[in-house]
Amino acid sequence: MSLGDSSNIIIESIIDNNDDTEVRVVIIGEAVRKDYMSVYGYPHSTTPFLNSAKGIFIDGLVSAGPNTQLSLTRTLFKADPSENIIHWGINIVSLANKAGYKTYWISNQGANGWGDDVFFNLSKLATQNKFLKTGDFESGNNDDEEMLPIFKNIINSNADNKVIFIHMMGSHEPVCSRIGNYKPNFKIYNEAGCYVATIEKLDLFIKKITEILKEKKYKLMYFSDHGLSVEKTTIFHDNDLYEEYQVPLFYLDSESKEQIHIKKKLSGLNLLDIYSTFINIKTNVTDHKYSFQLASELADNTDPIIYWEKYKHLSTIQKRQPPVIDIETNITKEILELKNNYTFSDQCISYVDYVKIAFPANPQIYKIVGWAASTKEKEPVNGIVGSFIVSDSKVMFVEGDIESRSGVREHFNMPKDANSNYGIVSFLDKKYINDNKENIYIGYKDKSDHYYICSKPYN
Ligand SMILES: [Zn+2]
Repeated sequence: MSLGDSSNIIIESIIDNNDDTEVRVVIIGEAVRKDYMSVYGYPHSTTPFLNSAKGIFIDGLVSAGPNTQLSLTRTLFKADPSENIIHWGINIVSLANKAGYKTYWISNQGANGWGDDVFFNLSKLATQNKFLKTGDFESGNNDDEEMLPIFKNIINSNADNKVIFIHMMGSHEPVCSRIGNYKPNFKIYNEAGCYVATIEKLDLFIKKITEILKEKKYKLMYFSDHGLSVEKTTIFHDNDLYEEYQVPLFYLDSESKEQIHIKKKLSGLNLLDIYSTFINIKTNVTDHKYSFQLASELADNTDPIIYWEKYKHLSTIQKRQPPVIDIETNITKEILELKNNYTFSDQCISYVDYVKIAFPANPQIYKIVGWAASTKEKEPVNGIVGSFIVSDSKVMFVEGDIESRSGVREHFNMPKDANSNYGIVSFLDKKYINDNKENIYIGYKDKSDHYYICSKPYN
């Protein structure tokens, strides 16, 4: 109910009375780090279209939070950190409605489920809304491209002055599942490669949007809700990582003649202000000194406020992670055939969660995911960890990487701060494996090069 109450919004004036823009597009990106975009300096050409697109690229937006829900509730709605409240009635859709625009919301995110329902309810304030999915964000693996024909229909439907919101799935984890039918410009050998491919795909998506708009006078703004921790073997949310908050913000305009870069530290909490000038209005609830055109005149917000557990300054987030550059490194490990230097051990237990293609774009690489623990200490196994493939004729070993697995710790009733490095992930070439995980075990090698194959606790 409070979401639909826009009575506190007063449109004070139109900024530019000569503005004859026909269509405004707001693309809400998903999990995109700016340091993976070549237009922001990534060394591989991941954004060939954007590299020469005409408009304004702001380098320095800090997302309001480390995940979709925490960030967008403070970006698409007016948040007041000093009171720790969100003014639900003051939001990107209501501002445009009140200013007299026809509003359209197209989404490839979840229509219900924890954290998504608020954005679904926001979309219902629009003149029209269309979700590709009917359930939560995992309820279908729809491709962002499926939003293009819907977008095209809206563009061609009438001559109303429009604001169109597009909420992408973008680079949402599992990232390798987002590539769909897109053919990356390189071969994918690791998880970071999948991430880079989704950035290339984003560039093509925005190019296609501008092609649909090419007969129109348009303005387009894009930003991402947050970043991710991107490593070669794994991608996940790390709320204490600086790059989790370093996101792109740019503006394309059919009337622009050049590409302008502005280095300016800005808080995601001010995106609603930038948006209000983007839709050409001054209001009583937004600050019109924030705009793309005048961004270079703003003072740097040197230590923006973010929301993670509570409102705090970005400077409390210390951990840094440069982008992965060598994306074509094959992370599969050599497989060793063991002779007599192994034992089936009951001193440790292990469990194989799954054996499957690691990256859909490269079916040659398989991934074994499981865990192992020593029976007595109920602690992660020591030594070099990895996976064993056991057949009648031979036993083979491939080294793996340790991952933290808090679920196993909980299974053993270990305290929360206990070591949780039970998880073991191995990457290997498909030729060594069949899909029968009954023959696969997890285990380790000790200092004297003896291998211990941990017996499974259950299947
Ligand atoms: Zn997100």
